[in-house]
Amino acid sequence: MSIQGIKTRIHNAAAEAGRDADDISLIAVSKVQPNARVQAVLEAGHTTFGENRVQEALGKWPDFQQTFGELDLHLIGPLQTNKARQAVELFGTIHSVDRPKLATTLARLAQERGASPNVFIQVNTGKEPQKAGILPSETDAFVAECRALDLPVKGLMCIPPVEEEASLHFALLAKMAERNGLAGLSMGMSDDFEKAIQFGATHIRVGSAIFGARVPVAG
Ligand SMILES: *Cc1c(COP(=O)(O)O)cnc(C)c1O
Repeated sequence: MSIQGIKTRIHNAAAEAGRDADDISLIAVSKVQPNARVQAVLEAGHTTFGENRVQEALGKWPDFQQTFGELDLHLIGPLQTNKARQAVELFGTIHSVDRPKLATTLARLAQERGASPNVFIQVNTGKEPQKAGILPSETDAFVAECRALDLPVKGLMCIPPVEEEASLHFALLAKMAERNGLAGLSMGMSDDFEKAIQFGATHIRVGSAIFGARVPVAG
């Protein structure tokens, strides 16, 4: 679907929820997509993109920024502390802060650079052992810890378990954000972003619905 088509769907979902579509940021998730597809979306005027891996992002976005100017880049995948420096140099927002060591590293880099990326704390709302994210029961304390480090915590992020009703996870995340005084909710992907908007999403992360199915890569 064209990026314009997705924007129309966001508009309709927002209207239905009694919300302003301008309060919802569309992050076009370009991971593993051929550059030609990404370029077409850039040429359509979209400037907000998400990537999963620092290394992959470094291979394309500095070049695109040369051509299209400064873009709003979001890291939505797991971040190893040894890639944190490269990450903060490229990304304005990191959605996957999920452990004290990473928070401490980002805070130190922020001090050193005199600038910090915006931060979302990833919550493992489904308590899935294989999935990244802080456990719901530990989230309030971790939010406080990040704030004590002066990290600009904008909100919470989740990826619901595939086999469960996403609404339950969106509602839980919204409740946890509210009780922590956080306005940002990074939730909703291609299959469920309209539902996420209904539950208050401020940042939706949409990949395949914009770019088409991801082309599998080896390794
Ligand atoms: C890949 C990815 C998305 C986008 O997924 P689609 O189903 O293609 O929209 C969103 N969020 C995260 C964290 C992802 O890794």
